[in-house]
Amino acid sequence: MLTTAQASDAQDSPALDLLIVGAGFAGLYMLHLARQQGLRALAIDAAPSVGGTWYANRYPGARVDIQSMEYSFGFDEPLQQQWHWSERYAGQPELLRYANHVAERFGLRDGIALSTRMLGGAYDAAAAQWQVDGLGPDGSRRHWRARFLVMATGPLSAPNRPSFPGLASFDGPVLHSADWPLAPVDFSGQRVGVIGTGSSGIQLIPLLAEQAAQLTVFQRTPAYAVPAHNGPLEAAYEARTKADYAGFRARNRAMRTGFGSDLPPGPGSALDASAAEREASFEARWRIGGFSLLSAYADIMVSAPANALVADFVRRQIRAAVHDPATAELLCPQHTIGCKRLCVDSGYYATFNRPNVRLVDIASAPIEAITASGLTLADGQQHRLDSLVLATGFDAITGTLLRLDLRGRDGLRLGEHWAAGPRNHLGLMVAGFPNLFVVGGPGCPAAFVNNMVSIEQQVQWISRCLADLTAAGRHCIEPTPEAEAQWLAKVNSAAQATLFLSCNSWYLGANVPGKPRQFMPLVGGFAAYSALCDEVAQQGYPGFKLS
Ligand code: NAP
Repeated sequence: MLTTAQASDAQDSPALDLLIVGAGFAGLYMLHLARQQGLRALAIDAAPSVGGTWYANRYPGARVDIQSMEYSFGFDEPLQQQWHWSERYAGQPELLRYANHVAERFGLRDGIALSTRMLGGAYDAAAAQWQVDGLGPDGSRRHWRARFLVMATGPLSAPNRPSFPGLASFDGPVLHSADWPLAPVDFSGQRVGVIGTGSSGIQLIPLLAEQAAQLTVFQRTPAYAVPAHNGPLEAAYEARTKADYAGFRARNRAMRTGFGSDLPPGPGSALDASAAEREASFEARWRIGGFSLLSAYADIMVSAPANALVADFVRRQIRAAVHDPATAELLCPQHTIGCKRLCVDSGYYATFNRPNVRLVDIASAPIEAITASGLTLADGQQHRLDSLVLATGFDAITGTLLRLDLRGRDGLRLGEHWAAGPRNHLGLMVAGFPNLFVVGGPGCPAAFVNNMVSIEQQVQWISRCLADLTAAGRHCIEPTPEAEAQWLAKVNSAAQATLFLSCNSWYLGANVPGKPRQFMPLVGGFAAYSALCDEVAQQGYPGFKLS
């Protein structure tokens, strides 16, 4: 936050109804709806482009892991009819073009301040306004006053950069998958090291392997990856979907995950099926690709024995794909499949058959130090490297919010309120932080849902809430501490009924040292969550104080 003297020097914009932080898909849609409602709204983004995650994650191979006909906006029929995706799973450049197209198409550009960073914000109860401080493109101080503040900052936007001893002394470039250089990076002839084998790592490793002279993959935990089977979008599929796109979207919204209505979850228990039936079901879903494997049976994420059957199936695929038995074994995960987010890959396992690719286990011999010329492991192994790539993920869901100086009523800091882990009501609003909305934050199912569907639902709910407040002549909405406590209990008990607590994942904050271990997303499905949010609005916002 700025001092009073600094704030008085800051360029003050006219009072807004709504300040939106983030110009990714959530921010763009929020801005569009706010303007349709006649609200004075501004979206700011620290990046020089719209697109959010699809601007930041420019690493080679970055690609969506939900089919693009589903991972796209459904709120506008002409948009969804006219936009053509070139591939089944669009790559990052195409997704960024789509974000820019949305900004153009809906005339949003003049409501977006790019290269403009929020530093912090405080709720001013006397004025019933958020006072927000930030920096403009030239580094000058900015100040905004807004009745409502919408944090559309995304659940995966704060890169996790582990503090490896000696990292700063490394002589070559150190790149992070979530903060990739704008200009293409040429790894030809280089010895490249990659740390991290989650979704980002498994996407970039095959492409780096094609360029680098030697690629060394430092793996702490092997990932389960299912094939994307990406390719050009089939014209017949596109035509069929577009013939009833609204119906297709509605069927997806009725799914737990907000996508996949083309291949609904299998009923019953994996344990009740015969071995042959199970194998046929897993095989069929493996051939189709994507996340559908995990929904082959209803109990895969709640029954350890059922889960073990799928995990075993994937390990067999890994052993079949990787020629060297020792490497294959090292690539075989032993944890619950789906407990960490499943990865969707293109040629990941086969990459380890290349002579220039080496897999190094850093679970048994952790990284001891990074030196000017490479990496030293705890068992004394030295790896000489020219470039180092960190695919080490994110301080997920809460990281971006907690890196800002957000203060609610009576100066309450978000970091204090969330010291033991995040809490809020409906996954949308925090007690003590009036008129602050979070899209894709803790306590909502976004992490398990087609994020476009999740964004549309939450943004529409916020928009409706703002309209309802205006209609009721109210200025302020804030959840009660009791409602917040009940919601937290619901989030916790939903997770406890599953296998999601059985491993270290970013859902739990377990990937960031010192972060409170609390399961952050809401398990239970998109459709149920969405219905509950609608019911709360319909009933006049029980669990919230309106003033
Ligand atoms: P991630 O899933 O958290 O993976 C990070 C990797 O870095 C893990 O292998 C982790 O090992 C390793 N790591 C972290 N800290 C480390 C340390 N100190 N020492 C050694 N290894 C360390 O991150 P991500 O791959 O960026 O993906 C995050 C999420 O973003 C995904 O789950 C997904 O939701 C989304 N995403 C989606 C796509 C897509 O396909 N559309 C692509 C990229 C990302 P451990 O497992 O042992 O912690």
